[in-house]
Amino acid sequence: MTGTINVDSKQLPDARGYYGEYGGRFVPETLVPALDELEAAFHAALADSEFTHELDYLQSTYTGRPTPVSYARRLSDHLGGAQIYLKREDLAHTGAHKINNALGQALLARRIGKQRVIAETGAGQHGVATATAAALLGMECHVYMGTVDMARQQPNVFRMRLLGAEVIPVESGSKTLKDAINEAIRDWVTNVETTFYLLGSALGPHPYPLIVRHFQSVIGDEARQQIVEMAGRLPDACVACVGGGSNAIGLFNAFRDDEDVDLIGVEAGGLGIASGAHAARFADPALGRPGVLHGTRSYVLQDADGQILNTHSVSAGLDYASVGPEHAFLRETERAYYTYATDEETLEAFQLLCQLEGIIPALESAHAIAEVIKRAPTMPKDSILLVNLSGRGDKDLDTVIKELGE
Ligand SMILES: *Cc1c(COP(=O)(O)O)cnc(C)c1O
Repeated sequence: MTGTINVDSKQLPDARGYYGEYGGRFVPETLVPALDELEAAFHAALADSEFTHELDYLQSTYTGRPTPVSYARRLSDHLGGAQIYLKREDLAHTGAHKINNALGQALLARRIGKQRVIAETGAGQHGVATATAAALLGMECHVYMGTVDMARQQPNVFRMRLLGAEVIPVESGSKTLKDAINEAIRDWVTNVETTFYLLGSALGPHPYPLIVRHFQSVIGDEARQQIVEMAGRLPDACVACVGGGSNAIGLFNAFRDDEDVDLIGVEAGGLGIASGAHAARFADPALGRPGVLHGTRSYVLQDADGQILNTHSVSAGLDYASVGPEHAFLRETERAYYTYATDEETLEAFQLLCQLEGIIPALESAHAIAEVIKRAPTMPKDSILLVNLSGRGDKDLDTVIKELGE
């Protein structure tokens, strides 16, 4: 049981965008009117049945929702403890949960009257989801991407271009995700009148973490109903990987008031916490401390002077120095528990899921499976673990081939 403090956290964030002492809005003055406009448009959209019907319609006829829940019989038998159920976001169009948020925000952009969307991308997954939504709705799309990431993720660069997006190379700093975010914010400051910033995770200045949570909550809303239909009751625990935290918050949100359901987030442990080469913002007390990055206050990996540290993970989607502010709050109030899986544990989990269930998971999602491998055997056979399989692993085959030396 992790649910010890009774906070009505569904009411959060507060009016200023805070989850306890995390979140908020740390942006240049010029962006404040756009964030206010976005917040107002978001609330108006939710109250407008035309908007919600269109989103529902696209989810069912385009994204392929509801995604199923699969009972992982052979994995459960193999581990010999809890019964394991997988929420199959890998089966959503484009192969991951990111499309849920991209479609929702693209519809919001159209509602506000902005024809141009911009996005940042690291591994390219959010860029692909954004380019997909922009193509579907006939919008102009520019995606910022570090040149190091472009070289590492060629197929996604090509996908985005096929989908009609322009990929803008970023040469500054470490030429990776955090530099791409800086450039995207710069673009937004300059073109804020015409441009919608389509943000990819439960991060950034208020109201983005709230908006992303809302559009990803479909995961948990569906899964809660599906597990009750299949297993006859709620799970004992929900498990999800945590990069920025959007797939995790999307799953957790539906269960937050179910105090008997443990919520477990899994960060990227990389080469191990002691090595410093990881993206475990919560697990490393030396380097992970509250701070401000990209418009929000949360846990950030930083050195003694507050310089943002470079991170490492075998999975590009978890490789970020900060984490969504609501997760910092859920951890502090002990409603959710956070742990990590190393690259090595993740690669083992990846192979096990392939062999026992016929599912090639994204390396991000394999972090959640790694935690299940540790946890399930310690649980009784009539207990239930619900795991979010955030994406499919086709995109990771090159990485896995290199790592396994085949
Ligand atoms: C991007 C990505 C993640 C990490 O992002 P969150 O916002 O933490 O969900 C996890 N899984 C997959 C498949 C991804 O593409």
